[in-house]
Amino acid sequence: MLERPDLMSQLVDNKMLIPTGVKGIYGFSGEFENVVAAVERLARAIGKQGTTETISFPPAMNRAQLEDSGYLHGFPHLVGTVHHFCGDDQDHLLLLDSVEEGADWTKDLRAGDLALTPAACYPVYGIVARRGRLPEGGVNILLSSYCFRREPSDDPGRLQMFRMLEYVRMGTPEEALSFRSLWIDRAREIAEMLLLPATMEVAADPFFGRPGKIMASSQREQALKFELLLRVSGEQPTACMSFNYHQAHFAERWGIACSDGSPAHTACVGFGLERMALALLREHGFDVAEWPGTVRALLWS
Ligand code: ATP
Ligand code: ZN
Repeated sequence: MLERPDLMSQLVDNKMLIPTGVKGIYGFSGEFENVVAAVERLARAIGKQGTTETISFPPAMNRAQLEDSGYLHGFPHLVGTVHHFCGDDQDHLLLLDSVEEGADWTKDLRAGDLALTPAACYPVYGIVARRGRLPEGGVNILLSSYCFRREPSDDPGRLQMFRMLEYVRMGTPEEALSFRSLWIDRAREIAEMLLLPATMEVAADPFFGRPGKIMASSQREQALKFELLLRVSGEQPTACMSFNYHQAHFAERWGIACSDGSPAHTACVGFGLERMALALLREHGFDVAEWPGTVRALLWS
C-alpha cells in the first residue's frame, strides 16, 4: 500500500498525473486512463439491464436547466458558467490591450446559454420531463459526463474536472428506494471484490452558507445520502461512490410524473471514476501488473 503523505507527489513523479499549473486540473497518463477505463467498464457491466437507457453528456449543459434544477440554491460556490466574447473590432482591440497589460481581459465577456455540468444526472431530468409521464415501472438511465466543481485542492482525490458515471432511477418511492438499497449492497461487494477496505456512511452534500447547514442536517437525519468511503489520499477516507434519494424534489421541479400521474420519486448512484482509480492505485500500487490476480481478472477479463 502506498503511504498517504506522498500520494500526490508519487502520482506526479510517476507521471500518472501531469500538473497544468491549476489545482485540480491534471493530464492523466495512459496507465492512469487504463485503470479509469477498467473501473468504468466494471460499473457499466454490473448495472447492465435490458431496460436501461444509456446517455453520455459533454461537460457543459443547458444553463437554464441548471437554474431550474435548484443547484444555485445549494451550491453557488461550486458552479461554473461559460462566458463568451460578444464584442466588435473595437472591443477586440481593447481586449488585446488588456491581455498585453496583464489587466482583466475577461471582464467584458458575457455568460451564454451554457453552464458546466456539476453532476452527470443534472441534464437528464428536463429531458425525461419533456417525454411526458413515465412508463409503468418507471425508468432506468445510465449517464456519464465530465463534471466541474469549483473546489481547487492539492488533494488528488478532489479535482475541479472529473468523470462521473451515474445510474438514475425514476418511478414510485418504493422503486427509487429499492434501487438505492440494491446499489448500496452492490457497492459493498464491488469494494470487497477489488480488495479495497471500505465503509458505508450516511452523508450530506456540501451545501453553501448558513441555510446550507440546516439543509445538510436535514439530509442526514432523513438518510437521503449514503457514501462508500475508500482510502484515497487523506487521513480520512474519501467518498468514491454516492447513493442519493431525492424523494420528489426533482420530479416536482420538473413535473416528472409516474404513469398514474403521481409525482415521481428519483434516486441516483454515482461512481467517481478518478477517485475509484486512485483508491486502487493507493491500495495495490502503481504497477498494475503486480496487482492481485483476482482484482486484475475482475477489471481486465
Ligand atoms: P464530496 O463530499 O467529496 O465533495 P460529494 O458527496 O459532493 O463529494 P457527489 O455529489 O455525491 O459527491 O458526487 C458523486 C461522486 O463524484 C462522489 O461519490 C465522488 O466519487 C465524485 N466526486 C465528487 N466530487 C469530486 C471531486 N471534486 N473530484 C473527484 N471526484 C469527485
Ligand atoms: Zn445524481
